[in-house]
Order: sequence, then structure tokens, then C-alpha cells
Amino acid sequence: MKLKIGIIGAGFSGMSAAAYLAKSGCKVTVFEKHNQPGGRARQFTTENGYVFDMGPSWYWMPDILESFFTDFNYKSSGFFELISLNPQFEMIFSDETIGIPEDFEELKNLFESIEKGAGTQLDKFMKSAKYKYEVGMQEYVNKPCNHWGEFMSPKIAKSALKLDLLTNFRSYVARYFKNEKLRALMEFPVIFLGASPKDIPALYSLMNFGGYALGTHYPKGGFYQLVLAIQQVAKNQGVEFHFNSEATKITAHENEVKSITVNGKEHHFDIVIASSDYHHTENLLDKKYRNYTEDYWEKRTFAPSCLIYYLGINQKIPNLQHHTLFFENDLDRHIESIYEVKKWPENPLFYVCATSKTDVSTAPENKENLFLLMPLAIGIEDHETLREKYLNKMLHRIEKHTGINALASKIEYKRSYCVSDFTADYHAYGGNAYGLANTLKQTAVLKPKIKNKRLKNLFYTGQLTVPGPGVPPAIISGKIVAKEVIKLKSIAYETVI
Ligand SMILES: Cc1cc2nc3c(=O)[nH]c(=O)nc-3n(C[C@H](O)[C@H](O)[C@H](O)COP(=O)(O)OP(=O)(O)OC[C@H]3O[C@@H](n4cnc5c(N)ncnc54)[C@H](O)[C@@H]3O)c2cc1C
Repeated sequence: MKLKIGIIGAGFSGMSAAAYLAKSGCKVTVFEKHNQPGGRARQFTTENGYVFDMGPSWYWMPDILESFFTDFNYKSSGFFELISLNPQFEMIFSDETIGIPEDFEELKNLFESIEKGAGTQLDKFMKSAKYKYEVGMQEYVNKPCNHWGEFMSPKIAKSALKLDLLTNFRSYVARYFKNEKLRALMEFPVIFLGASPKDIPALYSLMNFGGYALGTHYPKGGFYQLVLAIQQVAKNQGVEFHFNSEATKITAHENEVKSITVNGKEHHFDIVIASSDYHHTENLLDKKYRNYTEDYWEKRTFAPSCLIYYLGINQKIPNLQHHTLFFENDLDRHIESIYEVKKWPENPLFYVCATSKTDVSTAPENKENLFLLMPLAIGIEDHETLREKYLNKMLHRIEKHTGINALASKIEYKRSYCVSDFTADYHAYGGNAYGLANTLKQTAVLKPKIKNKRLKNLFYTGQLTVPGPGVPPAIISGKIVAKEVIKLKSIAYETVI
């Protein structure tokens, strides 16, 4: 008889786990509270013809994403067309705008033109980042992190020093570049990891390689195409999806999960995997079965929440790229507002994505699709007046940069999304957007465990456990948990993973 697996949540991690386990011969059922897959990467289309990806927009580490498809003998190109963006993005400073070209030689020339010798320094930086990327993505990232013993191999020991685990990202970048703008450009990718560059290990310069060197891509039709492709791969392995199906209880007896309750009905499985936010999943269990206490969660450093606006603009906007970072204000002040002061920032930094610059199918003809994102502390006050106040600040800065007047009067679709929406939609702790920050104290074995310590058939996956936040890590997390289940059950299947 086939092993029956029940999975809570159809985000990247849940779908990835589902696909691998179905391929290994298990009968897999996925329950998702929303009416579509993707979780934080859902998409919606407005009545007046705008298409918005709700979350991720930076398609980085294309080789890692491709390896998911390779594992199932597919190619991503069989599902969607990937466009390489040029420039990859623009960063706006108070006195100039810098665009990151697609071509690495051009990028080196650009660095050299800003600071003498910075072209050669960039080469050195990237060589080391490439090493970290290769070792990190092959040796480290696929570990279940049950114990440190997993990292005791001669190969890992040999590489450990070169990974700069104990150097912080900020001082590491400063070793290579003096110019403040170049430093900001190099620091930007680790902001994805949900902490200040001074609290992130330099190991994560691998992100610079996964982005700037491998390029910034865009799946035609939107990031959601990746969601649909992964769902299709999972379906092709026989995974069954149930939408509008919220799990409200995980019932356990002695050392085993007996059932999960979905829409008032109990379902029985041999193994349960929860890809829902970790803290929420634990709250579906009786207290005595939880891995962590409330106190544990209070002491974690969470990655930020954010304020997002999805805007339909009734005309084209000149002088704006697909990805634009508004970095005219001080990064550290904004970071302080997130982690120390825990208030709405006075002079925020923010990001604008305009997919309609690359893909006309995401906005009506001669119109523009704008996604505005401003990082925020988790758990802070969130109401419409505050959201609007910050929308106006952001619009003003876009007007200044693009030369467009009265942008507010050109908005023909508007939806905001913030802390309370993350809480309501994903049961996200404090309304976090990206899970836990990847600080050294919350890395690898120090992350919330992938397996329940008291229940032998309950596992966790997703951005709150290993390896961490981001689309590629979430997909890898699904693969790791699938491997753990396969190991536990000694399923006679070895070729998939
Ligand atoms: C605004 C934003 C921008 C981002 N930008 C990028 C980017 O550019 N590049 C990048 O790589 N990453 C980005 N990320 C991060 C990335 O989107 C996430 O790390 C990743 O999608 C997390 O996947 P997951 O499967 O862990 O969780 P989720 O996507 O949250 O999936 C969990 C699923 O579980 C469901 N669920 C929860 N509770 C229940 C329940 N009780 N019953 C049933 N279902 C339930 C949820 O509805 C959800 O579908 C971004 C995230 C956000 C929020």
C-alpha cells in the first residue's frame, strides 16, 4: 500500500515536498487555505486588466530553480519563457542613478568608472562569491540540520575558512570597496535575508553571485508562472490539491499525529508535513506536542514585514525600469526603524517593480503596472491612514525621479497589503513577510527544526525552517523534508533525490 502523506499549504515548499514524495511513490494530498497555489507568491488579475504578482519578483539563482525541473526530467522552458533583464535593476541615490548591466564585463567597467580599481576588486569579490555559492548551494544548503555532525566532512572542513562565516557582510564589503554607493549596491542583496548587513555572515555574498553574476530574470506572464509550473510538475506525479481548505487542527495521540482537521472534517495520514508558517502550525497542536514555546518565538529575530501597494497607472511612466530601488535615504536609519525602534520609518527606502516594462500582458495597453514595497518592523501598528501616508511619500519620490506630475490622479487601480494582511492570510507571526532573519545565530542547526521532537510522523518545511527565506530555499526546503521522510520510511526509491 502507498504511504499516505498530507501536506498543509501549497506555497513553494509544500508543492516541492509534494512533488518529490509523489515521485517516490507516495500518495500525496495538499490542503491549501487559499483558492490558488503559490502562498506568498500568489497572483491576482483586476477587473480592469492589471496582473499583479503578490510577492516575489526577483528571479535569482536560475540554476538552482532549474535543478527542481531537472529532478523531474523537465526544463523550465517547457513551462515558461525566462527573460534576462537589462539593466538588471536601477538604484536611485540622492544625486545619481546607477543601473546594473546584464553583462558582467560592463558591470566591472561601471565599478571602475566609479572608483579606481573597483573593477578588479569586483572580479575578486565575485570569484570568492562564486566559491561560496558553489560550496554553499551544494554542500550546506541541502542539509536537514538535525545536528552539527552533518557538517563534519573533510570537504566541508576544508571549505569552512573560505566561507567567511564569522565575518559580517558589511565589513567584508568594505574590504573591497570604499565608495559608499558601491557598498550600498553590494549590500542590497542581503537585505532579502531579513537583517542588517552588519548582522549577516559574509557567506551570503553568494547572493551577489546568484544575482548580479547569474543575472536577474523574469518569467513571461509573471513570477506566478513558476508557481504554476511547479504545481503542474507535482500534479504530473499524481499529487492531489484541495483549495479553500484550511487545516484547523492537528490531532495527536502518544507519539503520533492521528489526523488533520480540514473544513471540519478529519483526514488520516501516515505522515503530515506542514508548510504553513511554523508558529501557526505549532498552534494547531496541543501545547505538549509543540517544539517551541511562545518565549522562543518572542526571542527570534524575524525578517521584516512590509507595506505593499499594487497600482494600476493609466499611462506609461518614463524613466522607470522593471526593478528600481529608491535608496536616496540612509539604509541604516531604515534598518534601525525595523529592528531597534520598531516604528514606521521616517525617511524610508523602498522598491518599485514595473513588470509592464518587460511584459505588456501584465497591464492594459499604454498603461503601467506598479508594485511598491517598503520593508517594515513586524507586529507594528497598521491602518489605512498610515498606509496612505506612506503611499504619498513613495509617489512623491517616484514623481521626482520620473518627472511625472500628479501620479496619484493617474491611479486607476489600487490595493494595499501590509502587516495585518500577512497575519490574516498566512497566519504569519507578527505579520512577517519573509520568515526568520538569516543571522548567524539563526542559521543551519540553529533554525527551527524540520522534524517534530515528540511526534514521529510530523514534519515542517518552508521559509521558517532550513535553509531559510526566499523562493530557491523554500523549494530546497521541500526537497530536504521529502528526503527526511524517505529516509525515515526507507522507501525504496533513490533515483529522484
Ligand atoms: C512581498 C514579498 C516579496 C518577496 N520577494 C522575493 C523575491 O523577489 N525573490 C525570492 O526569492 N523570494 C522573495 N520572497 C520570499 C518568498 O516569497 C518566500 O520565501 C517563499 O515564497 C515562501 O514559501 P513557503 O512555501 O515557505 O511559504 P508560503 O508561500 O507562505 O506558503 C505557505 C502556504 O500555507 C498556506 N497555509 C497557511 N496556513 C494554512 C492552514 N492552516 N491550512 C492550509 N493552508 C495554510 C498559506 O496560505 C500558503 O499558501 C518574497 C516574499 C514576500 C512576502
